[in-house]
Amino acid sequence: MMLTTANFLFTQVGFIGLGNMGNPMAKNLLKHGYPVIATDVFPESCKELQELGAQILDNPAEVADKADRIITMLPSSPNVIDVYTGPNGILKKVKKGSLLIDSSTIDPAVSKEMASAAEKMGAVFMDAPVSGGVGAASSGKLTFMVGGAEAEFTAAQELLNCMGANVVYCGQVGTGQAAKICNNMLLAIGMIGTSETMNLGIRLGLDPKLLAKILNMSSGRCWSSDTYNPVPGVMEGVPSGNHYQGGFGTQLMAKDLGLAQNTATNTKTPVPLGSLAHQIYRMMCARGYASKDFSSVFQFLREEEGQ
Ligand code: NAD
Repeated sequence: MMLTTANFLFTQVGFIGLGNMGNPMAKNLLKHGYPVIATDVFPESCKELQELGAQILDNPAEVADKADRIITMLPSSPNVIDVYTGPNGILKKVKKGSLLIDSSTIDPAVSKEMASAAEKMGAVFMDAPVSGGVGAASSGKLTFMVGGAEAEFTAAQELLNCMGANVVYCGQVGTGQAAKICNNMLLAIGMIGTSETMNLGIRLGLDPKLLAKILNMSSGRCWSSDTYNPVPGVMEGVPSGNHYQGGFGTQLMAKDLGLAQNTATNTKTPVPLGSLAHQIYRMMCARGYASKDFSSVFQFLREEEGQ
């Protein structure tokens, strides 16, 4: 449906970064009656949202000039720094009292820097990274992990509820990122563990579907085995059944594991399996897997064995 201003019930919301996640998230804001003003460095990404009635502007500063609630969904820390503090960044034109919510997965230290830069301009910054992937972004079922001033949480919740099934307050700014980084480190370890287990079972002569069924009724069960199995043919509707296309890119997982390593180093926390997972995902990036879904570690391990 083409959404016209007549369909809109609320004041406009800015959205910056219309990639795999940002595009469906912004669509859900439109569906809930919020007029969206958006921008992306890649004009092609804006087309679909524009057709649905969103206003597209040239850069983040222009968005900040018009909207006092802005959501950003960008790949990594340098993009967030640029979008907030760059020459055409949000903070160049931000209105006093604006609420700035960053849903990208980035270094918690960068979230804190952005929060204090926003505060100097009289605005409020919150980190609200997500778990759930492109499917959950489309169906509005994301989990948001929110860090920032508790007094602002209700205002953030109003928007985040349009895009997510769970909106969890974690504590001061940066704690949303901390929760997200911990989750993804465990996810990567679980995915590699599931992949090597399934591969071993197959080599021992087990049918992969039967092995998955047994794991999923036993103590080895995890999200990677029962919801996102990495072995082609075991499950429908997951990237392993589609040549590892779509889903959550190996390059993004390598980035998140790098963030986990940085934070572990800073806090002198031993994370041996997290370190190994980081190296495995980096090797995959170097060997052509960067844009494949992260469950392609199963394929990577089989290639490593010379198959
Ligand atoms: P993506 O690369 O598909 O989209 C990012 C978008 O930001 C792109 O359209 C890009 O053009 C735009 N962009 C980059 N720099 C910009 C700038 N300076 N100004 C305006 N736009 C800019 O990434 P994604 O998959 O949507 O992921 C976004 C974030 O969400 C990442 O931090 C990722 O780790 C996290 N995340 C992704 C998933 C997933 O399944 N894809 C799941 C959970 C969390």
